[in-house]
Amino acid sequence: MSETRGERLFFAADMFQTDGFDGNRRARSTQTPSRPTVREEARDIPVHAECDVLVVGGGPAGTAAAVSAGRMGARTILLERHNHLGGLSTGGLVIWIDRMTDWSGRRVICGFAEEYLDRLPKGAVSGPPRDAWGSRDAATAAWWQLRTSAFHGIVTYAPTCDPEWMKLTAQEMVLEAGATLMFHCWGAEPIVEDGAVRGAVFESKQGRRAVLAKVVVDATGDGDLFARAGAASEADINPGDIHHCTNTAWMFGGVDMTAFLRWRAEEPDQYGAFLAQGKAKIGLFEKAFASWRDDVALFMGPRMVGFNALDIEDQAEVEIRSHRLMAQHLDIYRADAPGFSNAFLMLSAPQLGVRHTRRLCGVGPVLREQWDGRVRADEIGVSPSLSPKFANVSVGYGSLIPETLDGLLAPGRHLACDATSHSFMREIPQCWLTGQAAGAAAALAADAGVQPRAVTLADLQRVLRAQGAFLHDQAPAKAAE
Ligand SMILES: Cc1cc2nc3c(=O)[nH]c(=O)nc-3n(C[C@H](O)[C@H](O)[C@H](O)COP(=O)(O)OP(=O)(O)OC[C@H]3O[C@@H](n4cnc5c(N)ncnc54)[C@H](O)[C@@H]3O)c2cc1C
Repeated sequence: MSETRGERLFFAADMFQTDGFDGNRRARSTQTPSRPTVREEARDIPVHAECDVLVVGGGPAGTAAAVSAGRMGARTILLERHNHLGGLSTGGLVIWIDRMTDWSGRRVICGFAEEYLDRLPKGAVSGPPRDAWGSRDAATAAWWQLRTSAFHGIVTYAPTCDPEWMKLTAQEMVLEAGATLMFHCWGAEPIVEDGAVRGAVFESKQGRRAVLAKVVVDATGDGDLFARAGAASEADINPGDIHHCTNTAWMFGGVDMTAFLRWRAEEPDQYGAFLAQGKAKIGLFEKAFASWRDDVALFMGPRMVGFNALDIEDQAEVEIRSHRLMAQHLDIYRADAPGFSNAFLMLSAPQLGVRHTRRLCGVGPVLREQWDGRVRADEIGVSPSLSPKFANVSVGYGSLIPETLDGLLAPGRHLACDATSHSFMREIPQCWLTGQAAGAAAALAADAGVQPRAVTLADLQRVLRAQGAFLHDQAPAKAAE
């Protein structure tokens, strides 16, 4: 494995400082201890299936990729280790979807993302109505700020959603697209021949098997496949940056969020004292967020810093601490927070909340210096920017393509970008965006019998537009029409 370029980028730190950290983790050697080994004998394993496009990981990126590739007629398999689709957006209880609109209120995250959210039934989505997007009206913005859909005094479309409807809707869209779903399968090793990925070996209750594919989409979020195939990645963990924290999210049921949010807005001093008291009692104390229902509160922290989500001892430690913190929060909220007297433990997330592990070293990363409104020639979509002082960010196909490894694309939170751009490129809407593009590109590559890096950009952009994605008018395919 090569993560030799880690430690490269640290300039993001001050932008995202927060006091929600636990810098108090136990000291553990960063050196890998030498361990005794056992020899695993070489053996032949059954080929379970062959396909055009194999997508490993059914989170936002993988789901969008499978739908996009399947709709283009590619024989597509989506392999997921859990029993549901959505990744962190469902199994991680990250049900607060970040901004789909830019600061003017225009929806720029479109295509798969738009269709998917529009298919969720009424009552499964909570967010501002379309005519409020971009509003700077103080009262409207204050209302939506409490419900996590207004920032910098501007209303944006950042809805909260019912995770169960998200799982089911994603599943049905993948199946309708003609893709095959393989749940309970863990992508273990890429199959690499002559510098190109040709499929993956997976583990399951049926043992170790292989799927062969013309193109593999690594949508594991952690670059499991590209790292094991030898592609370079970055892993600059900055202890002062919230985007590297881990935690297991949870939900409390039986609450009255309207009463809580009214108290929070009308009694800011009392609310501040409540937070300070909680922190004094248990160290790390988290704010309750609104969800898609008034009787459900969402906790997407407390964030714990300094843990490596690729290390199984750290993973266990974060789970243990999070579950304990959940019970401690219940006691404090029930005792002192208006609206929480009947709260109960509803669910802790089945998936560990990981913001960042590896980022691909790709041929065209998303970089901080590109946030100036430029339109990349290899544009596959447009991301809202971090704050109103920046233009929308043109996302290029090169951010999905490894520097040298062939046969593989890497959309989602492990795409190629710098640490600062990762703060928004890892968000769910952006993962839908890059996933859809990866699926389309993989299908084009498989159909043409070329490597993903050789896909004709004009073809890819035409397909993405036909699938409803938003690209700038100046993006080359449109300009050439
Ligand atoms: C606590 C927290 C709060 C966040 N807050 C927000 C927010 O408010 N708004 C927002 O938009 N985003 C937020 N994010 C970020 C966002 O949730 C993730 O970055 C996004 O879900 C990443 O999507 P993905 O598809 O790349 O990966 P993931 O969501 O991680 O999905 C990866 C999928 O691949 C599967 N998988 C992994 N490895 C394997 C393997 N080897 N074999 C088979 N399957 C595998 C996993 O089970 C999972 O289903 C937050 C993240 C965290 C952790």
